[in-house]
Amino acid sequence: MIIPRSHPRYLSLKTREQLVKGNRSGLVVPEGLIAHGRGEAFDYILGEKTGRSAKSAITAAAALLLTARRPVISVNGNTAALVPRELVELARAVGGDVEVNLFHRGRDREMRIAKTLMRSGASRILGVGKEASGRIPGLESMRRKVDPSGITKADVVLVPLEDGDRATALRRMGKKVIAVDLNPLSRTARAANVTIVDNVTRALPLLNREVRRLKRHNRSRLDGIVSGFNNEKNLVTAVKEITSYLDKWNGV
Ligand code: ATP
Repeated sequence: MIIPRSHPRYLSLKTREQLVKGNRSGLVVPEGLIAHGRGEAFDYILGEKTGRSAKSAITAAAALLLTARRPVISVNGNTAALVPRELVELARAVGGDVEVNLFHRGRDREMRIAKTLMRSGASRILGVGKEASGRIPGLESMRRKVDPSGITKADVVLVPLEDGDRATALRRMGKKVIAVDLNPLSRTARAANVTIVDNVTRALPLLNREVRRLKRHNRSRLDGIVSGFNNEKNLVTAVKEITSYLDKWNGV
């Protein structure tokens, strides 16, 4: 389908098209399309823009990734279809790894996601096939399968579009969790150390830009950014952003 750039919902339609294409090529499962719908609904009531709370979280996430010993970027089907280059660029910029982690795991799908990431410039992809021999304790879903040289050893894990159970289980393992989730009420948003309430398509390019900017700062400045960030408070700001956007429609 050709979407004219002048269409008022161009970006939203383009994103849907990328996911549908991803579904046809075996990257994205039907459940991923539904999950995107939930995200879109929240994006709508956020005014489809990156708010103040998301910008603060992006700065904290960039500082946390830059000060991590072993950062890992966890990739699922939707993120591989929407922002593969940005994910690979981020991993490279922070000296981290990219690991495939799926709720609906299958050999063929893992391989397709890995290939997409390779085509986007990754030189090594963790968590594929037998490599995912590690386990996250206390998790029943396929998302418990992790790579012993990736998420198992990581101190900081970026989990865009996550499910709450795994975010909580990763926290229990002592990892710092960065989430990207348009829903500030989700269990993931609440469980993470840093939650970026924004569309992954806007957040990832901004996060890469912030990493490039903060790279010039020294360790104590970056530590200060991380310790000065309060996720609970920031989520309250995100909810307020939604309510004040909705107030405009009420004529308040
Ligand atoms: P939780 O278990 O954390 O409560 P959930 O059950 O709502 O979450 P899923 O059904 O796995 O989680 O849905 C995925 C989440 O991803 C949703 O919260 C949705 O808002 C979010 N999401 C979907 N698409 C995007 C996107 N493009 N950018 C950011 N977030 C998104």
